[in-house]
Amino acid sequence: MVKGIYDLMILGTGAAGMAAAIYAGRYGLKTIIIGKESGGATAYSGPIENYPGHIGTGVDLMNTFEKQAKEFGAIFVLGNVDKLSNAKSGFIAMVGDKKYEGKALITALGSVHRKLGILGEAELAGKGVSYCATCDGNFFKGKTVAVIGGSDSAAKAAIYLSDICKQVYISYRKEKMRAEPINLQKIVAKKNVKIIYNTKPVAITGDTKVNGLKLESTIGKKLTKDTLAVDGVFVEIGSTPIIEIFKGFNIKMTKGGYIVVDKVGRTSIKGMFAAGDAADNPFKQTITATADGVLAAKAAYDYVKLGKF
Ligand code: NDP
Repeated sequence: MVKGIYDLMILGTGAAGMAAAIYAGRYGLKTIIIGKESGGATAYSGPIENYPGHIGTGVDLMNTFEKQAKEFGAIFVLGNVDKLSNAKSGFIAMVGDKKYEGKALITALGSVHRKLGILGEAELAGKGVSYCATCDGNFFKGKTVAVIGGSDSAAKAAIYLSDICKQVYISYRKEKMRAEPINLQKIVAKKNVKIIYNTKPVAITGDTKVNGLKLESTIGKKLTKDTLAVDGVFVEIGSTPIIEIFKGFNIKMTKGGYIVVDKVGRTSIKGMFAAGDAADNPFKQTITATADGVLAAKAAYDYVKLGKF
């Protein structure tokens, strides 16, 4: 391990962070990358069909990123960043009682699953309520499940679950799902997926495990059947950026809590860059997070080695 101050400290070991690490290594920056687990959200995405040049799962793709980043010299630390502060040299990150220091910082911490906040959700989490179809889908072999949401995560979860479960319902609060057309076509072709439009979940029922999902109409209609008998509920309603550790920094954010960046990932804090899902970039995909990471690494190089910010 390189002792002392790193040229670049990257927070987050998903696509954005690891892409940044690959490029930073190639630019000769002494780089440390810190994250909870390697692969980030992409590792939970199941098959990836829209990363040009890659045919396979998200895990395969992320394993390759990690291998490349290590080959170019990045030091990996698996752990949670508990505290971030300014230092004379740049930035200090605390992981438990371990202290890491970098001249420049790229934050690529991504986001966390948004919660419904309805009755039964917290109580039955892990007892039928899930936020990850590829992780938990196999527990529902031959069973009936509901997916909540109307965008691509919900669509992909439903497609994945339809091959495992007997019946999959999707509850969406509007009248047309807004997932990519190719994902919608796949859903339509599935005989065991039923979309229940204009509904929102109001309670998840069950004692020791989920047995039902109570729905309400969003357009004031009386539902013929307001409780679905289900064994599982997959909540796929998007995510919120991880920004907790920036509380002590006067960093510019959007109203939604995304870190404002310029087109190369510079934030409003000198020496700090952001990439991936927590940055306010308009499109959140593995490929765009990867490109964000690359741009941020180049900008970090310009800052550390050429003094440009
Ligand atoms: P999104 O933010 O795109 O969608 C969240 C969905 O959940 C929306 O349909 C939203 O409804 C609904 N929703 C939000 N809050 C609630 C709530 N409290 N109750 C009920 N429903 C709610 O998140 P995703 O994770 O689906 O996608 C994030 C990004 O990643 C998108 O850009 C997406 O395209 C991309 N992605 C692409 C994939 C692919 O295969 N290409 C796979 C997965 C993600 P409403 O529509 O009304 O806002």
